[in-house]
Amino acid sequence: MTVTATEPIPMVLAEVQVASVQRLSPSFVRLELAAPELAEVGLPDGSDGPWWDQRFKLVVPHAGGGLGSVTDADASWLGTWLERPVEERGHMRTYTVRELRGSGEQRRLVVDIVLHEGVSGPGSDWALAAEVGTRAVVLLPKRGLPFGGIEFLPRPEQRLLLVGDETAVPAICAILEHLPADAKGAAFLEVPYSADVQEVSAPAGVEVTWLARGAQEHGAALTAAVTAHLGGAVVALEIPEEVDPELWETPQWSSSGEEINDDGSVRGDLYAWIAGEAGVVTGLRRHLVKERGMDRRQVAFMGYWRRGVSMKS
Ligand SMILES: Cc1cc2nc3c(=O)[nH]c(=O)nc-3n(C[C@H](O)[C@H](O)[C@H](O)COP(=O)(O)OP(=O)(O)OC[C@H]3O[C@@H](n4cnc5c(N)ncnc54)[C@H](O)[C@@H]3O)c2cc1C
Repeated sequence: MTVTATEPIPMVLAEVQVASVQRLSPSFVRLELAAPELAEVGLPDGSDGPWWDQRFKLVVPHAGGGLGSVTDADASWLGTWLERPVEERGHMRTYTVRELRGSGEQRRLVVDIVLHEGVSGPGSDWALAAEVGTRAVVLLPKRGLPFGGIEFLPRPEQRLLLVGDETAVPAICAILEHLPADAKGAAFLEVPYSADVQEVSAPAGVEVTWLARGAQEHGAALTAAVTAHLGGAVVALEIPEEVDPELWETPQWSSSGEEINDDGSVRGDLYAWIAGEAGVVTGLRRHLVKERGMDRRQVAFMGYWRRGVSMKS
């Protein structure tokens, strides 16, 4: 599609400032981001949530301070932004809307960012150094306009299986907090340390299990717990040699180009939502779909990051 320079940008694009910083635990920092434009953030149906696993883009400045301007941005903004040197435009990363607080121009976007110990990345480094007044840019859905970015789409009668590492904790917690009171299922969350376990409210019928990784390999505890939960033999973590760092296989979309035949026929009573390190998620996908024969239309498998790979742009 050709975009003319005068078309308005179909989303909220705003420079935000950090309004508060809360170090939740060793691996998480919670930031409240503020800008008058956040008043316009809303879902395509015009509502203000629930946001489930809504993702958004955060642009953090380059180490030298460069953060592209958003003044007078139109629909061509992203293309123009990408053409600029990274030193001038900063780095774009994907995060989850943990919560939107307040209303009008006092609206605050809450984001929980993982501080990945020992491995530098612009997003994590920025969050670690953030203080009140620190600047960034956000791209978020504008009320009433199509946007995408919510993958959590179970049918009301389906039992839930929510699985994720620390990067998926914000999404799983936001999902758990908004489930209907009669929801049934289980959630497994793997975090680096026991001190990273968070208080989260969930319906009585959804069992929430936190797994502290400690010295174990990333994903080992999660894989064992999920396979045990599904019955049969407990399976050890196995990361395939080839991993797509952008693994994204949902009932609606396939990053590998797999044909999706969603004809609306019955898909079983379980809906699984699985996100985290792409190698771990690929291993779980192979096991659940190939070995346990789960219908892939019942599962959303999402690589939120890949060990050793920096996010694009
Ligand atoms: C839909 C979606 C929602 C997401 N929501 C959140 C969220 O709410 N909070 C959140 O913290 N993350 C979230 N993530 C993950 C986040 O985008 C990635 O972790 C991202 O790589 C962080 O960028 P960075 O600049 O810190 O590191 P990058 O520059 O991307 O990577 C630099 C190095 O750090 C490593 N790395 C990246 N992330 C981690 C990690 N978590 N642990 C260990 N090493 C890591 C990479 O493998 C690479 O070697 C989400 C991702 C997606 C796709």
